[in-house]
Amino acid sequence: MASYDVIVIGAGPGGYVAAIRCAQLGLKTACVEGRETLGGTCLNVGCIPSKALLHASHMLHEAEHNFATMGLKGKSPSVDWKQMQTYKQDTVNTNTKGIEFLFKKNKIDWLKGWGSIPEAGKVTVGEDTHEAKSIIIATGSEAASIPGVEADENTVVTSTGALALGKIPKKLVVIGAGVIGLELGSVYARLGSEVTVLEYLDHIVPGMDGEVQKQFQKMLKKQGIDFILGAAVQGTEALKTKAKVSYTLRKDDSAHEIDADTVLVATGRKPFTDKLGLDALGVEMTKRGQIAVNDHWETSVKGIYAIGDVIEGPMLAHKAEDEGMATAEVIAGKHGHVNYGVIPGVIYTHPEVANVGETEETCKEKDIPYKVGKFPFMGNARAKAMFSGEGFVKIIAHAETDRILGAHIIGPSAGDLIHEICVAMEFGASAEDLALTCHAHPTVSEAVREAALACGDGAIHV
Ligand code: NAD
Repeated sequence: MASYDVIVIGAGPGGYVAAIRCAQLGLKTACVEGRETLGGTCLNVGCIPSKALLHASHMLHEAEHNFATMGLKGKSPSVDWKQMQTYKQDTVNTNTKGIEFLFKKNKIDWLKGWGSIPEAGKVTVGEDTHEAKSIIIATGSEAASIPGVEADENTVVTSTGALALGKIPKKLVVIGAGVIGLELGSVYARLGSEVTVLEYLDHIVPGMDGEVQKQFQKMLKKQGIDFILGAAVQGTEALKTKAKVSYTLRKDDSAHEIDADTVLVATGRKPFTDKLGLDALGVEMTKRGQIAVNDHWETSVKGIYAIGDVIEGPMLAHKAEDEGMATAEVIAGKHGHVNYGVIPGVIYTHPEVANVGETEETCKEKDIPYKVGKFPFMGNARAKAMFSGEGFVKIIAHAETDRILGAHIIGPSAGDLIHEICVAMEFGASAEDLALTCHAHPTVSEAVREAALACGDGAIHV
């Protein structure tokens, strides 16, 4: 048994970042992790492996569709799925090993095993019980299914199974047009699968700007992904090598079936708090099964904190990281802070889609007077040279003060471009501030400036 200032439970992006910041602030820190490797869902079976597959399949797409136009002749590459999986796993391994290195560097003890909290101030891992002045729960989330659908990780898979399929399916049916469904749907569409996405709502990616939703769906359709919207999935039937999905169309209640070699269930995730012992401790939960916390990320039990996917808010690695750093600072007696109004969201398809802050829809709901500055990538020379002239940057600014309220980008490097706007928003910038900032030419970031110009007297290149 050892005694610590802080024990963090879970070594995903929330937990490992919290542990590193605690150690940097001089707190004796341990982190409990039951997986064989550190990094949680994100590094092992989420963000990182999916980005490896997205990158590899995008390269294939470029070779098949754009190389000849650029004068790059030769046979298109063929797919060695086993090697692609090895590349994916190598990418994961270097990153998880990197966290192990950071733990050693910061003198953080990795307590290997699954943790539980027998009482405030104590954490049990296997046979051992350790003491901690503060405990941070960062146990993340797991795939949430829907009634009638059970993932066997063989023919009916969650994102975890979809990242490691034995072979590329001929027919892939995706349930849910959210981030996971569209990213992994894109991977397999580029690798040659016939992909159909079933979505309950009448639009894809709920919560995103309406104009982006429409444009994004059009672009994905052009890439060969089929959508059946307004489809309420009723159940799946897993056969040996195939599966059937039954759904009803909400507009007329008609019943339908669709066959697939593989079905990906991507209908959201739920907090993973099993076996922590929270019930017995009396930790208050929200109606949606998340751990309730105050504005210092402390639960209803003093000295126990919770961050990331187990609490309210978007289930995003970077949101968890920010909460991890802020909670460490609170525990060390400093002023931890997270600006929930400026958390970007990115979908790593091609083109990428990124958003931050208010949408037109939320401005209307909240009665905020707003104006829109929009610029198409077709007016950006650099984007066109890269066959990426589709999409746009859209900035939403306050109609009276010109303060930037949000931004929505669909186009090349959207996931990087969005951060220029995030920084501007953190500084309370107006669209004019952004428009007056010199942007290097030729870069795709000029499209951001042009959208800011469009909030005022007008963009130049359109
Ligand atoms: P999601 O919540 O983004 O999307 C789920 C979709 O499934 C929704 O569109 C919903 O309407 C639909 N759906 C629900 N029930 C249905 C039914 N019966 N029939 C048909 N459709 C149905 O969930 P996800 O894509 O599984 O992602 C889970 C979480 O992981 C999200 O919070 C997401 O933000 C996060 N994530 C983020 C990234 C990223 O930032 N790039 C990548 C992967 C996952």
